[in-house]
Parts: sequence; structure tokens; C-alpha cells
Amino acid sequence: MSASCSTVKMTDKNGDLNFLGQEATQWRDIPKEPIEYVPKKETIMLAGGLTILQDKLIETALHSIGENFVALPNPDFESFQKGKAFGNRGQCNPTYFTVGNLVKYLQNLRDEKGLSEKEIVQKYVYVTAGGCGPCRFGMYITEYKKALRDAGFDGFRITSFEHDKGIFQGSDEESLLNLSPKFFITLVKAVIIGDILNILGYKMRPYELEVGATDKAMEVCRLIISEAFKKKTNLTLALWSCRKILSEVKLNRLQPKAKVLVMGEFWAAMTEGDGNYNLHRFLEAEGAECIPQPILNRLMLSIWEAERKLHKKEDLAVETDKKIDFSNTKSRLMIKLAKTAVKTHFSIYAKAIGLHDYEIPNMEKLAILSEQYYTLDCEGGEGHLEVAHLIESVKDNLSHLTISVKPFGCMPSSAVSDGVQSLVTNRFPSANFLAIETSGEGAANFYSRVQMALFKAKQSAKEEFEALEIPEHIPEKVHNYLYQPHNDKAGSAAKLVASL
Ligand code: SF4
Repeated sequence: MSASCSTVKMTDKNGDLNFLGQEATQWRDIPKEPIEYVPKKETIMLAGGLTILQDKLIETALHSIGENFVALPNPDFESFQKGKAFGNRGQCNPTYFTVGNLVKYLQNLRDEKGLSEKEIVQKYVYVTAGGCGPCRFGMYITEYKKALRDAGFDGFRITSFEHDKGIFQGSDEESLLNLSPKFFITLVKAVIIGDILNILGYKMRPYELEVGATDKAMEVCRLIISEAFKKKTNLTLALWSCRKILSEVKLNRLQPKAKVLVMGEFWAAMTEGDGNYNLHRFLEAEGAECIPQPILNRLMLSIWEAERKLHKKEDLAVETDKKIDFSNTKSRLMIKLAKTAVKTHFSIYAKAIGLHDYEIPNMEKLAILSEQYYTLDCEGGEGHLEVAHLIESVKDNLSHLTISVKPFGCMPSSAVSDGVQSLVTNRFPSANFLAIETSGEGAANFYSRVQMALFKAKQSAKEEFEALEIPEHIPEKVHNYLYQPHNDKAGSAAKLVASL
């Protein structure tokens, strides 16, 4: 917990004041002056921090149910610097980027849009995911409040939903957020559709014949889906109509590109900007195809963790001969409902737009793969998932390179990547694995390490492709994104050739 400081003033022999040191005082979460906030219906909610596409879709989706939401711009290097300037020392990188991004946005409202600090504090609220840690995630909200107070926005409200409670948050009259099932279902729909579009974008962009064609098509798809959210029309039909737009993007998919699984700490692996030095775009520019980490993985992990906790509670009750707790039955039902809803929505939407070869992560399988290396009881960050992803990638030949991105100062991800993964790579010597830190600064070092690992991955992709016999006649369908064969090859080009 941060502490504010007051200067100890002492007089010297001339009776003048000297500033000899600082005395720590207790941090107080409440604003110094009482603040009269605007009524709930005039309050503007700020949010952000997922992929650019998802933030935009969420904004539209929540507007459609009457929520006054504004998505913040993607955090950039300036956000990071502001986070460092106003935040506590020793925070992890995502804290600096996200906290600084909010400070930057509010300063912009004040300096460019002419709103006073008082108006901003009265009118705006920031919504973020919260949790009890065990890493720094448990302190994010305090960190936001501290930075905002020091930046001149004392009393600015931060509200959160527990990332591990999903649709079971509950809502009350006092709450600024209408955390109703409707709110969460709309939010999850926007997140899932964003995931699906992003996955398709990463599959297509490296093979496009006209630079920028995939991004243009994705933007058209986003507008179609946004319109469906606004008009409350059928989202599945909207996704179906996106097929034609994506099919018109001309691709040459028979280029043997290195496939790179990007994983690691949730935010660092997912963000698309300075937070990970634009890793995905860098990899594509270097001739690779990325497998991104969808938000779906984090959702499934949260549900899996809730289910595991419940099982442990029930086992304990049996061991200690406690009476049956009927609230457990309700929780079990809710977990089952959440799991089914997420999986069903993902499958329907993926089918509609034509994403056929993506499997929703099997959390049980991933837990079994990793449990001998990393305890399943250790939450925080991605828990055991980083280990599981690496093992799965080697065993199922999913990629030519696995990159684990971990923010500087991250506790769970550093422990996993630096410690446990060396044992994993020892047991799976064919793994091409790179654990790499993002510190906000030091891009040159980051890029050169990625390039070195990518060199080997490119060789593997080429060898895999050249070992196949290429048929004389290549059917046109091979170049269409809708053709997604399943086999044991890692590279997309090799997969296609092997399927013919
Ligand atoms: S997982 Fe790491 S980077 Fe993410 S909040 Fe926790 S300490 Fe910070």
C-alpha cells in the first residue's frame, strides 16, 4: 500500500525552516474534500484495455443497452511515461500503461476539450476489472486512485467488477454499474465476436496480396456487427454477411511462414501497441503468422478456477462430515451455465463467419499437461496456463516458435517463464521457446531477441513445407480463408499442401 509523505520542518539556529526528511503518513482512499457527483444517468463510464477492435465493439454493444460507455484509446508510450510519473515505484508494466492511459485521457479532456478538473471528477468514472490478486492485480484500483490524485483528479471514481465472478457479480441500487446478466451477456458477446474477428485477421493478414486489404475488410465487418448491436438485429446473420467481405480479400496462402504462438501474461500478450512493442505486427512484418491469445482463454480460465474452488469446498465438506450446502448446487449450476453460454456463443459465431479450425481451449486437458510442473492452486496472472500452452504447442505441433511475453516486474509470469519453463524446455528439447520481458523501454533489445528466435522458426517452416510434394494443380479454394483443413502440420502453407 502506498503511503503519502509530509515533510518534516525543523528550524536551524537562525530560526529558519529546514526540510530534513519525510515522515510517512497512512494512505487514505477517500478524497480530501467531499465531492458532489452528477446523477447516475449523466455519468460517463470510461473503459478499455482489451484489443482495439474489442474496445470499439464493447463501446457500441453497451450503448445499445443504454450504458453511457466510452472506450479509451489504445495505451501508448506516452501513457506509460505518465503512469511512471504519477504511479508508485516498483509496479508491473501493465499498471503503468493502463493507469497512465487514464491520466493521459483525463488530462486531454482538461487541456484540449476545456473541461475543468472538477467537472471531470464529477462526471466520469473508470470501469476496470478487479480482483484480490494475488499479484499486483489486487492493488490496481488503489494505484489508479493514487496516480489520479497526484495528477489533479482527487476523488475521481474507479469502479470494478471482479474478473473471476463473471456474470455472477450482482448489482445494487448504489452501484454505478448495472452489473446485470444483460450487461454481462452483451459484454461477453462483444468480446467473443472481437476474438473471432481478431483470430481471422491474424490468419489472413500475413498472406494478403494487397497490403492493408485484411484490415480494411475487418473494419467493414466491425461496422456491420456494430450496426447489428445498435439496431438489435441478429448478430449471427451479421457475422454470416461478413463472409463475403472477407472472401474478397485476395490471399496467397502457399507461403511457408513461421507460425508463432504468442502467449504469456494476459495483458502483455494481448495488447496491440507499445505495451508489447507492437509484437504481433512486428512478427507479421518479419514474415511470420501469429496465433494470438483470445480473451476467451482468460474467460475459460476464470470459469475453470471457480469450478475447481467449488470442488475443493465440496471435498472438504465430505471429509469433515459437514452438512450439504445448497448454495454449492446453485454455484455449480451457474458455472455450468456460464461455460455452456460462452462455448455456445463462440461456436455459433465462429461458424457463421467461417472460423472452422479453432478449438475452444480445453481447460481440463491444459491442467493435466501442466500439473506436474506448476501447481494448479497458484492463481495470479495466467496461473499454470503458460506452462500448458508451451507443452501443448510442442506435443500437438501447433507452432514453430512460442513466445511468452511477460511485463517487467510481473510476479507470476516471471516465476513461470524464468523458472519452470526451463525444466519444460529441458524435457521437450524440440521446443523453440522465447521468454521475453517488456519494460516499456528497450525495444531494440526486444526486437533483436525476437528476430533471433524467429530465424530458427522460419527455417523449420521452410523445411516442413519443402518436405512435401507440391501437386501440379492447386485448386483455387486453397487461397480462400474459408478452407481450413485439419492435420498435423504446424505451418499454414504446409497444412494446405498436405490436405490436397
Ligand atoms: S500478472 Fe503480472 S503483470 Fe499482470 S497484474 Fe499481476 S504482476 Fe502485474
